Amino acid sequence: MNSKRILLSPPHMGGTEQTYIAQAFQDNWIAPVGPHIDLFENRLVDLLGEKRQVVALNSGTAAIHLGLQLLGVQKGDVVLCQSLTFIASVNPVLYLGATPVFIGSEKETWNLCPIALEEAILNRLENGIQPKAILVVHLYGMPAKMNEIIALSKKYNIPILEDAAEALGSSYQGKPCGTFGDFGVFSFNGNKIITTSGGGALLCHSEIDKKKAVFLASQAKEDAVHYEHTQIGYNYRMSNVSASIGLGQLEVLSEHIQHRKQNHLFYKQLFENLSEVTLHQEPSENFISNHWLTVIQLASFEQREALRLHLEKYNIESRPVWKPMHLQPLFQDNLYFGDDFANILFDNGLCLPSGSNLSEEDFNRIKEAIRSFFI
Ligand SMILES: *Cc1c(COP(=O)(O)O)cnc(C)c1O
Repeated sequence: MNSKRILLSPPHMGGTEQTYIAQAFQDNWIAPVGPHIDLFENRLVDLLGEKRQVVALNSGTAAIHLGLQLLGVQKGDVVLCQSLTFIASVNPVLYLGATPVFIGSEKETWNLCPIALEEAILNRLENGIQPKAILVVHLYGMPAKMNEIIALSKKYNIPILEDAAEALGSSYQGKPCGTFGDFGVFSFNGNKIITTSGGGALLCHSEIDKKKAVFLASQAKEDAVHYEHTQIGYNYRMSNVSASIGLGQLEVLSEHIQHRKQNHLFYKQLFENLSEVTLHQEPSENFISNHWLTVIQLASFEQREALRLHLEKYNIESRPVWKPMHLQPLFQDNLYFGDDFANILFDNGLCLPSGSNLSEEDFNRIKEAIRSFFI
């Protein structure tokens, strides 16, 4: 196969990134401080709402780590985590010595199931444990059922960390994803809807929280002329060069979202008359996905694997739905609340090429490959 490989979600530069980078070089701001970091944060605030505070960091994982720490998560605490996610959602729970308790997915959005969540809360309370946080994910850009989840958060007084790493530009009931939780997280890794080559952001709701996050992200240096420390810090700030890429990327974010939505429509039409294929799509107008990845469910594991290998023959990348955390060997001793829907999604779900830079030729190749599989 000598045709170029079609990837799941490659980086897509807009064109002005290098202008910002050149500026950074010219002014010698080649450091984890600099004007482009502030500007990048301000532009994100413009996008997410005036009253928000954004801290640019060097990964989404770092943002989750700091968010959990600011929620007071400590060694021995329980964090209630959506099981169907990427490992980066949960690794920071382990960094803090806390214990993840996993929650299954509901069938409409594939995200955190409110019924299973309440079951888990009640079970932990019965055992004398007050869970420290709820970690909800908008997987593949699809907003979770935030109304129900926020109601439980209030009822049982458990704060929310909202992992919107895949959901920049998604919204629920007209409000941007990432702004619902006590803290929100975005990622700008190379495969996300916009990239800084590697980076993330923590969304806070007060200036005090932002100050604390910046403090912890820059080695927790106390106010003194010498280096003075009273607590553990991290080296988590975004670099000014990465922020330069981010500024260029923000200029094309809405275009990227448009492209991803068009991809979704393309697949929707392609699978329209195939009863064995179920598309992951918004359950109602309250949910607006950025369609970071378009994902389908096939009739069985065998059919999913056959399609994946078939696409591979056409040099087209696809990938099974993320393996739920409660099925990971790393978490074999952790509790799980929920039914087997997440397991089924892992068995028969497939993520399809969803880049914002798919060409007409790419679409034709994908169409041909998929059609030839189903005839
Ligand atoms: C990408 C991702 C992260 C982590 O982001 P990094 O920037 O790669 O550290 C966290 N959660 C989810 C759901 C992700 O997809």
